[in-house]
Amino acid sequence: MTTLAKPPTPMQKPKNVPPASYNSPIFEELGFPTDPHNLYRQTVGAMLYASELMGLPHRVQIILAQPKTEIMVHFPVKMDDGHYRLFKGYRVQHNNALGPYKGGLRFHQDVHLDDVKSLAFLMTMKCSLVGVPFGGGKGGVKVDPRKHSNAEMERIVRRFTTAIAHGIGPDYDIPAPDVGSNAQHMAWIADTYSFLADVGGKDPSAVITGKPIEYGGSLGREKATGQGVVDTLIEMLPELGLKPEQCTFSVLGFGNVGSWSGKIFQDKGAKMIAVADHTGFLVNEKGIDAHDLATYVQQKGGVGGYTKATAVSKEEFYKTKVEVFIPAALEQMIQESEAKLINAIVIAEGANAPTTPGGERILTERGIEVLPAILCNAGGVTVSYFEWVQNKTYQMWDLEHVDRELNKHMVKAASKTRDARRKYNCDLRSAAYIAACERLNQAYAARGIFP
Ligand code: NAD
Repeated sequence: MTTLAKPPTPMQKPKNVPPASYNSPIFEELGFPTDPHNLYRQTVGAMLYASELMGLPHRVQIILAQPKTEIMVHFPVKMDDGHYRLFKGYRVQHNNALGPYKGGLRFHQDVHLDDVKSLAFLMTMKCSLVGVPFGGGKGGVKVDPRKHSNAEMERIVRRFTTAIAHGIGPDYDIPAPDVGSNAQHMAWIADTYSFLADVGGKDPSAVITGKPIEYGGSLGREKATGQGVVDTLIEMLPELGLKPEQCTFSVLGFGNVGSWSGKIFQDKGAKMIAVADHTGFLVNEKGIDAHDLATYVQQKGGVGGYTKATAVSKEEFYKTKVEVFIPAALEQMIQESEAKLINAIVIAEGANAPTTPGGERILTERGIEVLPAILCNAGGVTVSYFEWVQNKTYQMWDLEHVDRELNKHMVKAASKTRDARRKYNCDLRSAAYIAACERLNQAYAARGIFP
């Protein structure tokens, strides 16, 4: 067990916090699913609660509560053994009031339309909060990439691209990586799109971000989401009376976001003592070297079997006492039962929607601060925006420039969130939604609603 004392001054408990299950009249008006565990209902519910607090006009609330377009495709792909399989893919375009749709592509066996809708909605909010000229979108393919050879994945990715090509574009909808997808997949998408699209002779590789550096990618994009998580922590920790070098931390999910958050936070002086992914749960009170573990995971595919830490149960992992808990795996992984176990001062949401409203209610009651995903993990889309700008203007920024510009965006987004929290005396998630909705509301006020 760690022996670190609780820091002295936790943030003041806000007066306005959302209930465990928020029931907006807009749910009935728009025919939302009635199941309170439905991810889309939960995610939009948090925004609708914030909208009520700030007095967002009803017309903007209903626009933001549903995506503009939902694309669902089925496409056949030849497997290595000669037989054909039919795959299901999605692209949801939530909102483009602030600019082209932007958001990742998830390759995972459990991808469902409601998840993609939730993630697309979060992208609209994130882009607005972090001050980039994009709207929100998300997509995915129901596939387990670990179960396919490289050649099969290439055919799946290229065929999916042809299926959605008419609906994306460098000035219209710009995908990026998410869970299960990587820079190689982005390169195949850009290459396939460039053969299909008629863009008047222009290079269309800005249709996607997160590409390899050698093919239009940006320095700093791979680590960007983790960098943004740590930039947010550094900005917010002083309010909790903490400094990075005083912090121990746990990471749930050690893929792109989790491993980079771990490595960068460790480089700032913090100590990772617990880590978990789909292959196991590990604890070492003396510290787990995030760089060493990341190299191990690249070779072995997961944290399971790493011998420089002790394998523990899920419960022991969640109960490990730390200052910072970083969920960086999938949605809804902090429900009521996990929220009762977590022994941390602050949760930095690297993943999208990792905390359910019921889980968050318990965390709030226990005085655990939550840095919401639309703030904390906005670094990825911010550097995607830089990649897009570099592609469109034929520039190549150096890493220092990328990191500096990213930090400016993160600090400003954190400051807008803090201002909204003070003004509305609310939790940080509601504050982040208020700040995001203010910008969207201004755009709708200026544009009007056609006709
Ligand atoms: P990734 O595929 O690189 O990593 C996902 C991690 O989650 C893996 O370590 C995996 O083992 C773990 N995981 C999966 N199922 C699990 C389970 N049941 N229990 C424990 N761990 C489990 O994906 P990523 O890109 O790091 O994305 C992680 C989260 O961050 C997602 O919510 C994603 O939407 C979000 N996000 C990613 C980016 C980005 O730039 N990649 C940007 C913003 C937000």
